[in-house]
Amino acid sequence: MIEARELTKTYGGKTAVDRLTFTVRPGLVTGFLGPNGAGKSTTMRMILGLDTLTAGTVTVNGRRYDRLAAPLREVGSLLDARAVHGGRSVRGHLLGLARSNALGRARVDEVLETVGLTEVAGQRARGLSLGMGQRLGIAAALLGDPGVLILDEPVNGLDTEGIRWMRDLLKSLAGQGRTVFLSSHLMSEMELTADHLIVIGRGRLLADTDMRDFIETNSQGATLLRTADGEARPMRALLEAKGARVRPAADGGWRVTGLPPAVIGELAREHGLAVHQLTPVFSSLEEVYTSMTRTSVEYRGTRTEELVP
Ligand code: ADP
Repeated sequence: MIEARELTKTYGGKTAVDRLTFTVRPGLVTGFLGPNGAGKSTTMRMILGLDTLTAGTVTVNGRRYDRLAAPLREVGSLLDARAVHGGRSVRGHLLGLARSNALGRARVDEVLETVGLTEVAGQRARGLSLGMGQRLGIAAALLGDPGVLILDEPVNGLDTEGIRWMRDLLKSLAGQGRTVFLSSHLMSEMELTADHLIVIGRGRLLADTDMRDFIETNSQGATLLRTADGEARPMRALLEAKGARVRPAADGGWRVTGLPPAVIGELAREHGLAVHQLTPVFSSLEEVYTSMTRTSVEYRGTRTEELVP
């Protein structure tokens, strides 16, 4: 469990994290979203005691990070996968970490196996590809078998297969009751991986919600409509006359917004038009997120203009 209360960070006069209050719960994958510069890394760094707090509190399992008796056994993190001692081998890097945290050698072999690096364990860490480096970073995060994982862009540099592997790993770690907190700019991946979302913009909390609720609540209601080929034009004209917006859908048919499905169905029946498909559709996470963060930026933009004399 991670708990932030009124967490604030200013650099000089600039507020990077602005009174953030949220809880990251065990047993779920929680996605941390926000545009570049929103304050995600700063927040993660403060959770991990790598940045001082200007105000507020943040705890892991009820304690400040620097008060944890054995931090690596409680929190595993991946912030910058390139932060590896270059000259060491993959195994040597993990052994060094294990030794300084009183963890056994056997655990090193276990995590190498978990992340699929056993065969390259003797190679120099510095020569690894970005994707392999990410796997090594995950291995280091898992070394102390921690209940809490904090991962900044963990799928960076992974190929399709690696991304799928990471998704399954994170879900299974959450399934074991761990707290998994991750940031990613890959929305489609986040939509598939995370159960819960924390969204920030300019250091402030914009949403803290279940993934499905977030998409369903903030979706622009739309309906996927298919009619017989010859009836598409009259159907479209009828819908537009009622004020609906009708666009071709990506995989055929029409995407209709501005009228609920029941009204569309009634309209077709009144005019004797055959409907082949009438399906409510939700926006993707990317669509919802983009419109939410755009609104937040515009809102702040207006406010800033008002302040200009
Ligand atoms: P994100 O991870 O969401 O991209 P960051 O946490 O990296 O955002 O940055 C949030 C804001 O804080 C940005 O405006 C960034 O320029 C600023 N910032 C981050 N680190 C520092 C620092 N060490 N000194 C000054 N400003 C910083």
